[in-house]
Amino acid sequence: TESCLKAIDAADALNAFVHKTPEIALERAKAADARIATGDAPAMCGLPIGIKDLFCTKGVDSQAASRILKGFKPEYESTVSQNLVDAGAVMLGKLNMDEFAMGSSNETSVYGNVVSPWRREGDTAELTPGGSSGGSASAVAADLCLAATGTDTGGSIRQPAAFTGITGIKPTYGRCSRWGVVAFASSLDQAGPMTKNVRDAAIMLEAMCSHDPKDSTSADLAVPNFEAMLTGDIKGKKIGIPKEYRMDGMPGEIEKLWSDGAEMLKAAGAEIVDISLPHTKYALPAYYVIAPAEASSNLARYDGVRYGHRATLAQGDGITEMYEKTRAEGFGPEVQRRVMIGTYVLSAGFYDAYYNRARRVRTLIKKDFEDVFAAGIDAILTPATPSAAFGLGEMTDADPVQMYLNDVFTVTVNLAGLPGIAVPAGVDKQGLPLGLQLIGRPWEEGDLLNTAYALE
Ligand code: GLN
Repeated sequence: TESCLKAIDAADALNAFVHKTPEIALERAKAADARIATGDAPAMCGLPIGIKDLFCTKGVDSQAASRILKGFKPEYESTVSQNLVDAGAVMLGKLNMDEFAMGSSNETSVYGNVVSPWRREGDTAELTPGGSSGGSASAVAADLCLAATGTDTGGSIRQPAAFTGITGIKPTYGRCSRWGVVAFASSLDQAGPMTKNVRDAAIMLEAMCSHDPKDSTSADLAVPNFEAMLTGDIKGKKIGIPKEYRMDGMPGEIEKLWSDGAEMLKAAGAEIVDISLPHTKYALPAYYVIAPAEASSNLARYDGVRYGHRATLAQGDGITEMYEKTRAEGFGPEVQRRVMIGTYVLSAGFYDAYYNRARRVRTLIKKDFEDVFAAGIDAILTPATPSAAFGLGEMTDADPVQMYLNDVFTVTVNLAGLPGIAVPAGVDKQGLPLGLQLIGRPWEEGDLLNTAYALE
């Protein structure tokens, strides 16, 4: 813990930790030492970790990287972070992220962007760690902590993991409680671990999961010992390669990464099968209707009364001016864009044309996966992202849709509620990490982790 705290102070330039909690960390580390001395140490006893700013942590700033939550110190702890405390983990502080987890580059944060510890060979230009869990990715990749929590609504664990050469898993929807995690799109949001390798992910995921009556969508299922399932034996497993993920203009090195991954799994005894997920091309548009719709509804609670920031009002301003000024000042441009899209697609005149149609598409996407699993496929292999990390600022001035295209391989998994994992799988020609994604059957994270383990 002490050496991590030192490393964090020395790495301020990365802007990964936005609220440091050294007192809490040292106190919990001492308590962990005492437990270890008694011989009764839980799974993560004494392990120093970072917590994404989206998780409410009792008495500690929890701002979701938004101005509107400035000064918000929750009276309660999220279930996931409490589970980690109970498992003995030591929180070092809160990690930077995109505002309300909306973004793919960690450039929408009120704290400013995060910098990746990676650089292109022979180049000093700063790169994005990905988003929205960019602080988590940078902190783990730069060894500022042993692991971190992330959240994934459309790829925010898997894309930053791929961009920084670490491992990240989004479990099945309902595995991790959403209680105390600031809501973005409630039917898609899931928490998960971001770690240095698959074994760490297995240990930390088990610690994070639990049935929680405070989240009505939390699954009442036993949490397996995921680590014990890492045998490395994947003989006879059927791995599907979905043809719809072979996008036009896909860079050769992404194609190669994908076929090399398939070869590795084959060499380990798996059978590689070509499959089809016919509705894939509608996933991104459906996601960018459903996620903003849910966000616009969830973000209605930031009204200048209940939480955080309230605008200074002029003489004669009423409650409408208070809402308008507070929300105009408190939300950044990307969040405002999502609230406007969401409000539009939910409005009486357009509800059927957009929101209801997107929901129908979502059902079809889910069914595509159900069909291939019913046909005996155990896991699906795809690239995690369409490219390696891009430069800071490179995508922000472009059309926002360019940024949304980053999520093309990851959003399907959230729409279908499935578990998905990103694992590092080599580097591109400029020396930057690339990731592969494996998608598994619902509730079979143990099996998925074991397949990912064979790729390591
Ligand atoms: N990049 C996606 C978005 O901006 C996903 C974000 C996430 O998973 N939290 O909506």
